[in-house]
Amino acid sequence: MVAALMNTRVEPHITSAYHTAIAQYNRATQYLDLEDDLVDFMRYPRREFTVNFPVRRDNGKIEMFTGYRVHHSTVLGPSKGGIRYSMDVTLDEVRALAMWMTWKCALVNIPYGGAKGGVLVDPKSLSLRELENLTRRYASELIPLISPHSDIPAPDMGTTPQIMAWIMDTYSMTVGYSVPAIVTGKPINIGGSQGRTEATGRGVVICTMEALKQLGKSNKSKTNVAIQGFGNVGSNAAAYAYEMGFNVVAVSDIYGGIYNANGLDIPAVLTHFKQTGSLTNFPESEPLTNDELLTCRCDVLIPAAMENQITEDNASRIQAKLIVEGANGPTTPEADDIIDDRGITLVPDILANAGGVVVSYFEWVQDLQSFAWDKDEVFRQLQRIMVNSYYGTVEVAEKHQVNMRMAAQITAIQRVADALKTRGFYP
Ligand code: NAD
Repeated sequence: MVAALMNTRVEPHITSAYHTAIAQYNRATQYLDLEDDLVDFMRYPRREFTVNFPVRRDNGKIEMFTGYRVHHSTVLGPSKGGIRYSMDVTLDEVRALAMWMTWKCALVNIPYGGAKGGVLVDPKSLSLRELENLTRRYASELIPLISPHSDIPAPDMGTTPQIMAWIMDTYSMTVGYSVPAIVTGKPINIGGSQGRTEATGRGVVICTMEALKQLGKSNKSKTNVAIQGFGNVGSNAAAYAYEMGFNVVAVSDIYGGIYNANGLDIPAVLTHFKQTGSLTNFPESEPLTNDELLTCRCDVLIPAAMENQITEDNASRIQAKLIVEGANGPTTPEADDIIDDRGITLVPDILANAGGVVVSYFEWVQDLQSFAWDKDEVFRQLQRIMVNSYYGTVEVAEKHQVNMRMAAQITAIQRVADALKTRGFYP
């Protein structure tokens, strides 16, 4: 499958995340003056690991599960990337997400390569004890691959700080001493960082504010924002956007969303969601579907759920003038072209949602130094890196006369290629 994909043009209408990642890479490398062997090397994942492992269910029965961990690149440093629990996990999806992690870390200039992991499971179908059993067994299967100096996992879709705590404990019990730096996104009482939970959503809103400044729209209360996905990224983006004075008109999760043209009271939505586990029946709102959310009347659209949400089927109906990608790979290459032709500004995932890995990096640094920073310091440094990365990408976009996605990819790929040239091919 990999070899076939590597050497052929990506077929239109096929929208697996890996096709998207490879299509973006193929497009970006055309702007770079790189030797073919470098281009080839960076296209391949460095290693791929598949594990099939048993988990004891509460009824005493053993069930087999499949998980993956892919290291796309270790050129700039240890590989870094989240772990996803979802029924949509495939090796191809993990490959794509690992590749995007490589570009994301390079783009924001943190010394990591890219990785990703996933288990094919619906975490909601497991009891807490089963979830812990599954996590600990998956973590122990990953031990040949992970360490604080080689590969550092983090949360992603379907995984939580508690799951990171179980991974940290499993690794620590195996080596015989506590190793907080083995994962990021942990609870604060075992070495997690202040601000990590909010970091990705906050970074998305920082990019939104910079992009709006550039578009000459600075009146936040008149800026309507719609957010797809109400998990870690979506809910924290909604909370920070509200705090910054934006009018958040729509939010949604997998079951659908809620809309209020005058703006939702986001702190009240968060309380309602915490109490009921759902967005539905929130007072002073009307229900809307995820498709309606993506195409609703708004100025800013933040897809913060999952891949392949903005496609050639809905891209021409999007009303937002600015799209800021909270999720990884929410837009297909075909939709990208439509969005570009329509003059809609798009801040790409590897820039917009990099706040998570930036604060994960801070967490790792704090753990390695056994020195905790306060929240103000974390947010100050996050702001600095996000704003610098944003304008660095704008500069490349202007230089090459390309859109922000292409500029972000060009910047990142060039950085990895330069490091690779300096290091040389081993042996
Ligand atoms: P999460 O599991 O906390 O939340 C996912 C949200 O998306 C939930 O509200 C879920 O109901 C919703 N959802 C799932 N499938 C959907 C669908 N088909 N339609 C609409 N909504 C759907 O996950 P998360 O950590 O918030 O991650 C969301 C996205 O952001 C993913 O693409 C992830 O890779 C990316 N991301 C996450 C982080 C992070 O720090 N958590 C960092 C960078 C990127």
